[in-house]
Amino acid sequence: MPEGHTIHRLARDQGADLAGHPVAAEAGQERFVSGAARLDGQVLRRAEAWGKHLFHSFDSGDVLHVHLGLIGKWFRRTADPDGVLAAPTPTTRLRLATDDVAWDLTGPMTCEVVSPDERGAIVAKIGPDPLRRDAKPERMWARLQGSSKPIGLLLMEQDVVAGIGNVYRSELLNIVGIDPRRPGKAVTRDEFDALWAETVRQLRLGVRRNRIVTMNADELPRPLGRLQRGEGRYAYKQEVCGRCHTPLDVFPIAGRTTWRCATCQPS
Ligand SMILES: [Zn+2]
Repeated sequence: MPEGHTIHRLARDQGADLAGHPVAAEAGQERFVSGAARLDGQVLRRAEAWGKHLFHSFDSGDVLHVHLGLIGKWFRRTADPDGVLAAPTPTTRLRLATDDVAWDLTGPMTCEVVSPDERGAIVAKIGPDPLRRDAKPERMWARLQGSSKPIGLLLMEQDVVAGIGNVYRSELLNIVGIDPRRPGKAVTRDEFDALWAETVRQLRLGVRRNRIVTMNADELPRPLGRLQRGEGRYAYKQEVCGRCHTPLDVFPIAGRTTWRCATCQPS
């Protein structure tokens, strides 16, 4: 499942391509024909991300709400040299396009047109998003303080903090040095401040790099553009800790495998 940096990057790229223009909306499959017809021709005001949710706000007040879920994807298509865009494929739930560029959505968990009030209700249930300037980390702190669930589980709960998935969970806790099994309420204020700051830093890095590579540039085994899949990480799917080379422990939390270094993340 895409993590928050992907959704923010999509909002940024789609905003650059589509915002300020009347957008042609088209469905490649029956399922979203009426939604696409409703949006067709409207001017897109902005695209924004909130955790793993994407919202496109149109001049009429209509808001497109998309959650990619496990298999959803957006594809960017550009016109051929003759200025022609290929038609959307039958698996395309929705295409948003100008004359020369199209964004095609396939397989989303959610794709719906909502009102600004409904958008507000969705956002109210989402935890603070570290990539948003209006994020309120105190809300996450309060949730940790009130919970004896493991921090490795709380980090994945989107109403505690938005945008973190399995890769960032393992990486962030390794970098900050917290055992993923530690109860939320046993995380100290200093640790929380470090965790929040590192989360902001890493997610921003993810938007810039457009992938999850958490190591600093000078630690990478080879230049960013030549990394093999999974390289450039400290813990996720690694055999030894990227910081101290201790063999990593592997166990599930919240049904998903996590990696922990006994040296860097003592019990
Ligand atoms: Zn280590």
